[in-house]
Amino acid sequence: MAIRRSTTKRHGLPTIVQLRLTPTPAQAEALAAAVQVCNQAATLVSRLAWQHRVFTVLELHRLAYYEVRGQVAGLGAQAAVRAIARVAGAYANRRASKKRAHIFRPHGAVPYDARLMSFNRDARTVSLWTPTGRVTLPYTGRPEDLKAIDTLPLGEADLIYRRGMWLLQIALTLPKPVVREPVGGFLGVDQGVANLAVTSDRAVLPGPVGGNGHVRTLRERRHRQRRRLQKKGTSAARRVLRRLSGREHRMMTDLNHQISKYVVREAERTGRGLALEDLQGIRSRVRAHRLQRRTLHSWAFAQQITFTRYKAARAGVAFVLVDPAYTSQICPDCGYASRATRPARGRFVCTRCGLAGHADHIAARNIATRGIAGWAVINQPHATGLPSARRDRESKPPASTGGS
Ligand SMILES: [Zn+2]
Repeated sequence: MAIRRSTTKRHGLPTIVQLRLTPTPAQAEALAAAVQVCNQAATLVSRLAWQHRVFTVLELHRLAYYEVRGQVAGLGAQAAVRAIARVAGAYANRRASKKRAHIFRPHGAVPYDARLMSFNRDARTVSLWTPTGRVTLPYTGRPEDLKAIDTLPLGEADLIYRRGMWLLQIALTLPKPVVREPVGGFLGVDQGVANLAVTSDRAVLPGPVGGNGHVRTLRERRHRQRRRLQKKGTSAARRVLRRLSGREHRMMTDLNHQISKYVVREAERTGRGLALEDLQGIRSRVRAHRLQRRTLHSWAFAQQITFTRYKAARAGVAFVLVDPAYTSQICPDCGYASRATRPARGRFVCTRCGLAGHADHIAARNIATRGIAGWAVINQPHATGLPSARRDRESKPPASTGGS
């Protein structure tokens, strides 16, 4: 009798697919007009909402519907309804502060719902509302995205103009795959600064993708550059600073995507689960030094967790966050724990059994072991009863961590 409570729950996974639209010049003009009109309408409704302190859809509709249709030429009934819902949503979600009227950027993304767009999946075209009538546009996209569009129920979409391209980003609900019981233990992933991730299999990531050490040197260079610009403090310097942080942000996001993709694929291929350190529940004072260095880019570590968790769920790979305390100081072979195991930064030598290795790899092995325990706890149906099921899990061989 196997009870796998959390593995049999079926929740949908929200995801976004992006389609590229290929309008004729005349159609592109119509789309541009749609974006402008919808944002203009939303800003107008938003001003009214703020002036009258009215933020619910129903009241806003009563207040603003005829006003906005009268003032914004070309705005149809459904587009007006959509603008009102969008404003109410913005205030409700605290995307907009109620301290001042929220402004919608004139060229910002515009939401389309089922009444403003319709898909012809066979012809791979989409028909979109514009102030000058509907336009029917062919779309292209990645094969997996096209497949998703063909097979899944579609949610709301955003019409976006970016770098000369018209894009449609559509929210979908993917059926969640059932998480498979990890049969080969767990793959542990240690997150670090120099090497963004080291696995219990000794993979050092991003590895050849980013070039070993590439990330560190790039970050150090950025850090120096940033310090210099911060000292300067002029508005031009601040502008450069913003651009820099944007570029670094994109680079890190890209690397995190690559790393999470790699570890999920690796775990899937070998029938294992994935374990990462829970960086929110940091309890160890001893490791504060190591963890403090991480806070510099804490968003990047949090992002790695988010990406990995999401990709693991999509692939049906078990995912566990474990306690990060002492993971780089305990010997994964004999369990001996001491600060003396760290003779030099980055090195681990067990003073009891002699196991030696790279500290990040040792940490990853401990994370993998904790993953097994963590998974057992998650899947324990009750505190009492079913001892056989528990025993089965506990008697599993430890993760194939590969000795040092
Ligand atoms: Zn040892």
